[in-house]
Amino acid sequence: MADKLVIGNWKLFGSNERIREFAIELKALSAGRLDAQQVVICTPYPYLATLAAVLPEVGVGAQDCSVNTEGAFTGEVSAAMLADVGCRWSIVGHSERRQYHAESDAGVALKAVAVQQQGLCAVVCVGESLEERKRGDHIQRVASQVRASLEGVAAENLVVAYEPIWAIGTGETATPEQADEMHGVIRQVLVELYGESGRALRVLYGGSVKPSTAGGLFACDNIDGALVGGASLEAESFWQIVTAA
Ligand code: PEP
Repeated sequence: MADKLVIGNWKLFGSNERIREFAIELKALSAGRLDAQQVVICTPYPYLATLAAVLPEVGVGAQDCSVNTEGAFTGEVSAAMLADVGCRWSIVGHSERRQYHAESDAGVALKAVAVQQQGLCAVVCVGESLEERKRGDHIQRVASQVRASLEGVAAENLVVAYEPIWAIGTGETATPEQADEMHGVIRQVLVELYGESGRALRVLYGGSVKPSTAGGLFACDNIDGALVGGASLEAESFWQIVTAA
């Protein structure tokens, strides 16, 4: 799989039993061809340790992380705790967190810093709404979201995921042209922020990626991989996406 990165986001799905079954299925399909640097699965917190134990062939990721290290913050999970259970990645700023938990760009940046401080890789999500795209504001919106969500964030251990909100969980994938255009804009902003090291950063596409659409997206120069929600829940469709990379 060239050098693309494919990250599965299980959202609020899964169980210990499901993860064990998934591991057996994915191991059978992949027959030793998995690389934990290039294939990552982000489960709900309680299943991170199970995933690390039963499927060490993939990178283990969380879907969110506290900005705090420890203290009286009921319900939160710190980056140090994630690292302690074998987690090496964390999504931050997913649009569902921004929408349902009012996460701001500044708050997302603080989370990304917290993740990086523990040596984990932060997967920072950005993306425009349908209204913003219809108004023609999408380029400017995403560019400013990238700048604000990366305030103080280092280039090392950083991945950016472009996830247009209108494509997440809707079955409507952005066309390769739409995604490639936006990835080009994001890369320009990354160069502006980090100089030449910004050019080498990976920018993933997310939003209803399926086995049938993955190949076209991965053929684009600016698309370095995918963040996959629904299609990552079944080993077969996830593996088909991984092999399209
Ligand atoms: C996601 O959750 O990040 C995502 C892209 O979901 P889906 O693939 O289901 O649209």
